[in-house]
Amino acid sequence: MTTSFVPRRIQDVAASNLGEYEEACRVFTWAKARALLDGLPGGALNIAHEAVDRHVAAGRGAGTAIRFIAKDGTRRDITYADLKADTDRFADLLGDLGVKRGDRVYSLLGRVPELYVTALGTLKAGAVFSPMFSAFGPEPIKARMAIGGARVLVTSRRLYERKVASWRDELPGPLDVLVVDGGEQVPAGTHCFHDLMAAAEPTFVTVATNPQDMALLHFTSGTTGKPKGAVHVHEAVVAHAATGRFALDLHPDDVFWCTADPGWVTGTSYGIISPLVNGVTLIVDEAEFDAERWYSILEREKVTVWYTAPTAIRMLMKAGSDPVLGRDLTHLRFMASVGEPLNPEAVVWGAETFGMPFHDNWWQTETGGIMIANYASMDVKPGSMGKPLPGITAAIVEKTADGVREATAPMTIGQLALRPGWPSMMRAYLHEEERYAECFAGGWYLSGDLAMRDTDGYFWFVGRADDVIKSAGHLIGPFEVESALMEHPAVAEVGVIGVPDDTVGETVKAFVALKPGIAQSDALMLELIGHARKRLGPAVAPKEIAFRVNLPKTRSGKIMRRLLKARELGLPEGDISTLESDER
Ligand code: ATP
Ligand code: MG
Repeated sequence: MTTSFVPRRIQDVAASNLGEYEEACRVFTWAKARALLDGLPGGALNIAHEAVDRHVAAGRGAGTAIRFIAKDGTRRDITYADLKADTDRFADLLGDLGVKRGDRVYSLLGRVPELYVTALGTLKAGAVFSPMFSAFGPEPIKARMAIGGARVLVTSRRLYERKVASWRDELPGPLDVLVVDGGEQVPAGTHCFHDLMAAAEPTFVTVATNPQDMALLHFTSGTTGKPKGAVHVHEAVVAHAATGRFALDLHPDDVFWCTADPGWVTGTSYGIISPLVNGVTLIVDEAEFDAERWYSILEREKVTVWYTAPTAIRMLMKAGSDPVLGRDLTHLRFMASVGEPLNPEAVVWGAETFGMPFHDNWWQTETGGIMIANYASMDVKPGSMGKPLPGITAAIVEKTADGVREATAPMTIGQLALRPGWPSMMRAYLHEEERYAECFAGGWYLSGDLAMRDTDGYFWFVGRADDVIKSAGHLIGPFEVESALMEHPAVAEVGVIGVPDDTVGETVKAFVALKPGIAQSDALMLELIGHARKRLGPAVAPKEIAFRVNLPKTRSGKIMRRLLKARELGLPEGDISTLESDER
């Protein structure tokens, strides 16, 4: 573990939204965070009002809300006023279709403008928004729509014909399908999104939703098993606002780029809601990852705050630092990462390449917003997730015979737990009451992740509870082993699992993808094992290394260690509905 700091970039702590960490925590209350928002008459609260209409009412309608970059590079700006008009129309058209408060509106779209209008217009109408990845196959789409009881689906003609048309009649309830690109050619049984928009009223009175009304239905990534449907309410916007302000340091003049797809929670909480509530200009790129394209977006759009993920950072590292040379990235002032453990190597690479570290932060679909973070005003310990947000109480807890107990000794491995009660906490796993109840014990929400806290109060990720390896009495976190191997210049990506062993319980096995141009060989394998032994000692270092072209990942970019393990042991692969196709 690295104990040295990468110093913060902002020397003037007062210039950051958070300021001095302890003081920020001391003065923060959720009530004060709520008071920074408008609300609606009668104690109502609606996410879309806070994200869009509030800015227009305050005279900020001419500001650019979203800049879309189409696959072919064409740019289109949508102002806050445009977004208000479009979302008003969409909310109105839902009424024309007979959609009621609480009904579920699903999207199955790439990152096109209609997706953002659907999300916010749905919330305005008091209906529930549930986004799906456009790359999902028919089965995961059907399962999600069946679980949530879809009333409306907004999609494209191609996606509808290929993935939905054949089974839509099997859904029990009525379903309206809106096609965004059909023109006069919309498939039978669907509506043309743009025709309905044109016929809708351009103004709509946002529904005065109760803060506890359901607003969002997000499915988890499916990394550890069958995805769960996490329910979030309108009050979540208080956390979206505060966490964007503190953990991403969003200021109204920022140009903010969140690279996550709205098909998973980051792409909605921080790819739509939080940045708009904070009044920034949001960059949306329709295309998939491409190192050159990404650097040119950072440069041309003068991105100031960039929120991405370890998988993407590792792919950029694979391409080397050369593509950054000669680019003017002087506008960039804050970089953050979420979704998976961020190897210290990646933090240091960020500091060397961009002049500032990537700031790792931790949260889950269930938490709705960032819970633990590295802040602009705080030095970074590479490999640590940082400290809890103001208003969040986090702890390491251990199971006891009659519940759980908080671990007080520093660097004790235990389950990462949070005190329930923050506004964006999930309110249910839809139709899975028992599973929801199992997440709570002894007054804590149990995250299912193992972590440690050091004497300075920084949290360190160890691994998912399911992934931790028990070997000869040691508890080995896959992240520690993966990070050590990542330091080797030949390594692009690593996934580590435990393989059952009669003598020691489990032995450590690593699956390694190499950087381009590096050949697999027995000599390299031995070198990697030697490197890991030197870094970790023989008890923790992998006994075995296997090379892979790619590692299996979820659509949200997470390494599926359970799949590496199932394949290794010849066990059933389980639910692989969120698996991105992988080359073994
Ligand atoms: P499922 O619950 O269906 O198995 P998932 O847990 O991957 O899927 P998400 O809610 O998208 O679904 O991901 C949250 C998880 O991602 C966390 O519980 C944690 O394991 C991992 N994670 C997120 N951010 C970080 C981080 N900064 N460091 C380490 N792990 C992280
Ligand atoms: Mg999870």
